[in-house]
Amino acid sequence: MTEITTAATCDCPADATENVEGVIVTGHLMTCSLGEPRRYVWRDGGDLQLGTLADYARTWERGIYDDCREELSAELRTWDEVYQLTVESLGTDDADWMRYRLVVANEAVLVGIDGRF
Ligand SMILES: [Zn+2]
Repeated sequence: MTEITTAATCDCPADATENVEGVIVTGHLMTCSLGEPRRYVWRDGGDLQLGTLADYARTWERGIYDDCREELSAELRTWDEVYQLTVESLGTDDADWMRYRLVVANEAVLVGIDGRF
């Protein structure tokens, strides 16, 4: 099967939102093959890591607590694409948790950081 497409070719509603393995995927239903979270490679210090955005978010979260965030690359790559991570701050909630949304293209992961540290 040769499938080289530049545009998504499926019938999913554009506002479809699914939470798949901790990754919020927009634009595809869970039943769609494009709705599966992408697997990325990124650099963490001297290592290359492989995983979904949810895995990346766990590393990112640890980096905040350990204060070594600059070790972690904000560039996530797939086989043929390079994606740039966007971090959106959603503010602090009543329990002093700082809420962030890590976004890569149509994928997002919500992260809470305990602000009392
Ligand atoms: Zn789809």
